[in-house]
Amino acid sequence: MADKGRKNFSDKLSDAMTPDSQKSTWDKTTEQAGDKFDQAKGKMQPEEDKGIFQKMGDALSAQIRSNLLKSIDVAHEVKLTGHHPFGSILVGPDNETVLLKQGNINTLNHAESTLCRLAYDKYPPEFLWKCTLYTNFEPCCMCAGSIYWANIGRVVYGLSEEALLDLSGDDKENMTLSLPCRKVFNSGQKDVDVVGPFADIENDVELKDAILRDHRDFWNH
Ligand SMILES: [Zn+2]
Repeated sequence: MADKGRKNFSDKLSDAMTPDSQKSTWDKTTEQAGDKFDQAKGKMQPEEDKGIFQKMGDALSAQIRSNLLKSIDVAHEVKLTGHHPFGSILVGPDNETVLLKQGNINTLNHAESTLCRLAYDKYPPEFLWKCTLYTNFEPCCMCAGSIYWANIGRVVYGLSEEALLDLSGDDKENMTLSLPCRKVFNSGQKDVDVVGPFADIENDVELKDAILRDHRDFWNH
């Protein structure tokens, strides 16, 4: 499948970024998701720069970091209501507009796979190919498969499946598989872009700690 129209985050993206002080609140953002779909479509660039995520500038990197933090917030929220601390969000082609958010439901219904089903019901696959799913941990093979079939074109995750295994161990509620999401995607017929572990995470103590915070002392409890 051609990835025309997907990987087109231009250098103008950073110029178009909205300062945090002017951004909508999280709730406002989600309430306006319907309107934002149209806004996001309007912001799409006609020609894509395929490698933009591979040559992340500081501004884009900051925006990715901001989106990752939003997925971490979702994970924290669902943990408070008794679910596993995993969260994901779907961001539009402008890499700014939050279209959906989803936390973990249970051992089978993961944040990412559930979000994929919701997204596929709500948006056309051609649009989803230009969107990015952000998630605090690397998607498992089930969720990677869901991302593939939902036709979501890019995934950004914070920490790896291996890092999760170190945290969850043999907890029967989350018996982590050793199957990197890239291996799943590489078995497919289309080029899903994967960014993760997030490039700066080893140097970004604050972000890494934000991801780990809800997992320390959670598993095998
Ligand atoms: Zn999963």
